[in-house]
Amino acid sequence: MCPVITTLTDTVTAGPDASDLAAAAVDAARAALVEEVGAGQVGEHLGHVVEGAFVATHLFGCTSAGYVGWRWAVTVAHVPGSDRPTIDEVVLLPGDDAIVAPPWVPYRERIQPGDLSPGDLLPVSDDDPRLVPTYAFGDDPLDADAKAQVRQVAKDLGLGRVRTLGQAGFDLAAERWYAGAGGPAAPIAQAAPDHCYSCGFLMRIAGPLSEYFGVCANGDANDDGRIVSLDHGCGAHSEVRLAKRHEPQPLPEPVVDDLSYADIDTF
Ligand code: SF4
Repeated sequence: MCPVITTLTDTVTAGPDASDLAAAAVDAARAALVEEVGAGQVGEHLGHVVEGAFVATHLFGCTSAGYVGWRWAVTVAHVPGSDRPTIDEVVLLPGDDAIVAPPWVPYRERIQPGDLSPGDLLPVSDDDPRLVPTYAFGDDPLDADAKAQVRQVAKDLGLGRVRTLGQAGFDLAAERWYAGAGGPAAPIAQAAPDHCYSCGFLMRIAGPLSEYFGVCANGDANDDGRIVSLDHGCGAHSEVRLAKRHEPQPLPEPVVDDLSYADIDTF
C-alpha cells in the first residue's frame, strides 16, 4: 500500500547514493506506469519515498490537462534474491497544488434549517446530546421494547414527552440564537433606539433561557414571532417616539378657489 504523501520535499529522498535497489528502480517503475496509462500522461521523475526495506514508491509528474498538480505513484519492491523489481501498484495521488473534492460531510451534518420539505422525516438519534430523558432510566441504549415502555410510562405519569431538552441543548440553542438575526449583533439591533427588554411587545418565555430571550409579538416588526435576545432591538420598539423634526408638519389652511367663468365674464 502506498502511504498518504503529504509534501514532496519532506518525504522524498533521492540521489545517486541511494542504496536501496527498489529506490533505484526508476526505469522499471516508469515502464510499468507507461504500460498502464500510456506515455502521453507521464511526466518527469519527481523522486521517491522509501516505504521500508526493499520497498519504495516512485513519483512521476502527471501531464494530463485534467489533473494539474497530481502525480503518479508507482510502488516497487525488490525482494532479496530476485534479479528484478516487482511492481506493487500504480496510483494517481493529489499533490499540494492539485484540485481535489472538498472533504466528505455526512448528509446529517449538511442539513441546514429550511432544508426540510413537507413530508420529510429527520429522526433524532437516541444519543443526541441535546436531549435527555424526561426521567432517568439508566445508561444502556434502549431497544424498541424499552422505548415503547418509556413512552407508556411517560404517558401514564403525564410527563408528555419521552425526552426533553438537556443542558447541552439549551446551551447550543442559546449560542445559536444570540449569534443570529435575533441577537444583539444584528444590524437592526445595532441601529435600534432601545432594547427588547424594555419593549411592550416582548413576550416572556419560561425555562432556563427566559433570562436572556423572549419572543417578539409585534406584527409590524421584522422579528414578529421569533426568538429575540433581551439586548436585541429594533425601530418598532413600543416606546419609540419621533423627534419633533421628524413629526409630520401641520398642513396650511386649504384655499378654496371659488372663481367661476361667470365671474371672469364680469371683468
Ligand atoms: S418590536 Fe423590536 S424591540 Fe420590540 S420586542 Fe420586537 S424586536 Fe424587540
